[in-house]
Amino acid sequence: MDLETRLEKAFRLTPTQKKALTRLGIGTVHDLLFHFPSRYGSPLAIKRIADLTEGDEAIVYGKVTNAKTSKAYRMKIPLAEATVKDDTGKIKAVWFRQAYIAKMLADEPLVKLKGRVARRGSSLYLANPEVEKTKTLPIDFADSLFVRENGEPDEDFLYPIYPESRGITSRWFYHHIHDLLTTDILDHIEDPIPSEILERYHLPGLKTALVFIHSPKKESDAEAARKRFAFQEVFFIQLSRIGARKRYEQERSFIVNADKNDIADFIKRFGFELTDAQKNAIDRILDDFRSGKPMLRLLEGDVGSGKTAVAATTAYAIIKTPPQEQDFGTLQVAYMAPTEILAKQHFASFIEYFAHTGINIGLITGSGCYKYPSKVDAGKPTNISRTQLLKWVANGEIAILFGTHALIQKSVTFKHLAYVIVDEQHRFGTKQRMQLTKKDVIAPHFLSMTATPIPRTLALTIFGDLDLTLLDEMPRGRKQIITEIVPPAKRDGAYEAVRNELADGRQLYVICPRIDEPDPHKESALNAKSVKAEAKRLKKDVFKEYEIDILHGKMTPKEQQAVMSDFSDKKINILVATSVIEVGVNIPNATIIVIEGAERFGLAQLHQLRGRVLRSEHQAYCYIFSGSDNEKSMKRLAALASAKNGFELSEIDLTLRGAGSLSGKKQWGISDIGMEAIRNIKMVEAARAEAEQMLNEDPALTKHSSLKARITTIDKNAHFE
Ligand code: ADP
Ligand code: MG
Repeated sequence: MDLETRLEKAFRLTPTQKKALTRLGIGTVHDLLFHFPSRYGSPLAIKRIADLTEGDEAIVYGKVTNAKTSKAYRMKIPLAEATVKDDTGKIKAVWFRQAYIAKMLADEPLVKLKGRVARRGSSLYLANPEVEKTKTLPIDFADSLFVRENGEPDEDFLYPIYPESRGITSRWFYHHIHDLLTTDILDHIEDPIPSEILERYHLPGLKTALVFIHSPKKESDAEAARKRFAFQEVFFIQLSRIGARKRYEQERSFIVNADKNDIADFIKRFGFELTDAQKNAIDRILDDFRSGKPMLRLLEGDVGSGKTAVAATTAYAIIKTPPQEQDFGTLQVAYMAPTEILAKQHFASFIEYFAHTGINIGLITGSGCYKYPSKVDAGKPTNISRTQLLKWVANGEIAILFGTHALIQKSVTFKHLAYVIVDEQHRFGTKQRMQLTKKDVIAPHFLSMTATPIPRTLALTIFGDLDLTLLDEMPRGRKQIITEIVPPAKRDGAYEAVRNELADGRQLYVICPRIDEPDPHKESALNAKSVKAEAKRLKKDVFKEYEIDILHGKMTPKEQQAVMSDFSDKKINILVATSVIEVGVNIPNATIIVIEGAERFGLAQLHQLRGRVLRSEHQAYCYIFSGSDNEKSMKRLAALASAKNGFELSEIDLTLRGAGSLSGKKQWGISDIGMEAIRNIKMVEAARAEAEQMLNEDPALTKHSSLKARITTIDKNAHFE
C-alpha cells in the first residue's frame, strides 16, 4: 500500500461508503490522510437529557418528534416547538418567533441542540437553542475508545469530528485513519515546507502534524497541527500569487507620465471635491504608471465611495498619452463590468467625463455594440456592428472600450492596450489576466475594483499578487442611513416607525433569515418557506392595509422580474425576500429595510444588505431585528451603527465569529483550515514574507521540487472562485 493506493484496495468498503467517499472527493490513501477533522469534541461537553438542570448551557443530541408551530400564550408570538429524545429521556425545545423551524424539523431528524435549559411550571425546556441536523449521534461515553481502563470517560480525550457525508461517519474516519497512522506510510511523505521555515515558526513537520491532527493527545497538539496546515495553505497560495506577480513584472510596460495640471483640470470637471482617499488612490496609480513596471493593484471601497472617479481620472492619463514613437493616436483602456447594465451605465458616464477630449469610446455587449461620438449626431453614441467596432479597437481608434466578460474573448484585439480596469469581478484572476496580456507585446497596467468587504488578511491572501489601496472615506455630505438594533421587546415600536414611513409613500424590504442546511437544494426550499410564512404573518398581523409580495430563489427569473417591476411601479408596498436575492434593480423609493434573524448574518453582509436602501433623497432606515436580546449578540450588532465601512465590519466579524462568518466563503477557494490562518495577520504576513524571500532566491523553485509541483497545481486553478 502506498499513498496513491485506491481506498477500496486498502479497506473493505460497502457501496454506500464508496459513494460517500466519492462525494467528499476522497479516492486515495493520500486523500484520506488529508481529510482533516473540522473540530474536536470532548465527550463531557455533551449532556444526557436526563442529566439536564435548569440554567445549564447544554449540548444535547437526540431525535426530534412532534415538531409543530404554535402561538405563545397571550402574547400571540408565533413559535416552533418539538420534543427531543435521547436514550436517557426527553425534553421540549421552543423557538420563539422562528416558526419556520418546525418545518425544518418536520422529517424528525437527528439533531444537535445547544442552548439554555429553562423551566416553565414543573417541566424543563430548551429555549431558542441553536439547532443543527446531524447524520449520526456522537461517539458516546460507552464507546471503549474513549473510556479509560477503569470505565470512566477520559476527560482529556478529544475526539475528532470530520466533515461527514451520508453513509460515512466520524467514527469510520477516526478508525480507518488510525489504522493508516500505525503503518509506515507516513515515512513516504515528503514535507514540502523547508525545515528552516518550520523551525522559525515552531511548526511541526508533516508527519507529526498528521498524527497530531487526527489523534491529538491534548488540545495543544491539535492546535499546533492546524496551525501548520493553515500556514502551509497560505504559504502555497502566496507562492503562486507572488510568483505570478513576479513573472508579470518582468514584462515590458507602458510608461505614462501624467501632467499634474492636466489631471487637475480633468478632476475639476466632476463638480465635486475628491475625498483624500480618492486623491491618494489616484496618486498611487499615477506613480505606478511612471514606474516602468506593469501595475497590479486592487482598489477596495464600499459602494458609493467613488471608485469610478478614480478609474476615470487614471484612464484620462492613459488616453492623453500617445503610443511610443508615434505622435498621433492614444493608448487604450479596457473597462470590464460585471453586468451589461453596469457596462452601459459606465459607458454613459464616461461619455460625459470624456466628451471634451474628442476620443472615441466603445461599448461591446452580447446584445449590441455602440460607439461614441456618432458621425451623424456628435453629441450621442451610435449603434454599430460588432465587426466594425472590433476593427476600430484593433486599429487603435477606440480609446476606451467597455464591456462584460466579452472583452477578453479571442476576437477582441487592441492595438495599444495599456490599462485594464476590472470592476467587481472576483473571477478575474491571474489566468484571465494572462489571456489579455498574450495579445499584446507590452503588458497593460491592471486595476481591480471591489466593494466586497473582506478582511485585510483574506485580501492579502487571495489577492496576494495585487497591491492594496483602500477608499476608506465616503464623499462628504452623503446621507447616513439610520440603523436601529431591535431586540424582541421593541418590535412593536419599530413596526410603528415603519408604518409612518409607509404612510408617507415609501416602500419596505423585509429580509428573512438565512437557514443553514447542508443540502443547498433543501436550503433554498426552506428559505422560500420562511419568506412565504413571514409575508403571510405580516399581512395578517402587522401591515394588513398594505400590498405585500415575495421574492426568493425558488422563483423563475421571469417571476422574479415581474415582482421587481411591480415593486418598482409601487403596486407592492412591502417586498419580503431572502438575502440570496440580489436586488440589483435600483428602487429609490424603497427606503426602509427590516432584517429578520440578524444574528444569523455576518456584519459585513448586513452592511451590504442595508446598502440597498441608500439610493434616494429621502432618509433611509434599517431595522436589524434580533431574535434574542443576548448581550453578546446585541453588542456585535451595535457595531453596525458605529463602524466606518464594510471592511471594518468584516474585520470585526472575523474577530468575533471566525472565518465561518465571512459571506461567500466557498468562492475564495480556501479550505476551512486555511481560513484559520485568515484570523491571524502575523501568520499571513509571515507566509507572505517567506514566499517572497524564497522566490527571490529561487524564482523557478528548482531547489524545492515537491513544492514546485504543488504550486503548479494551484497556478492552474488560479482564478478567484
Ligand atoms: P462606487 O465606489 O460604488 O463605484 P461611484 O463611483 O459609482 O461609487 O460613486 C457614487 C456616486 O458618488 C456617483 O454619483 C459619483 O459621481 C459620486 N461621487 C464620487 N466621488 C465623490 C466625491 N468625492 N464627492 C461627491 N460625490 C462623489
Ligand atoms: Mg462602482
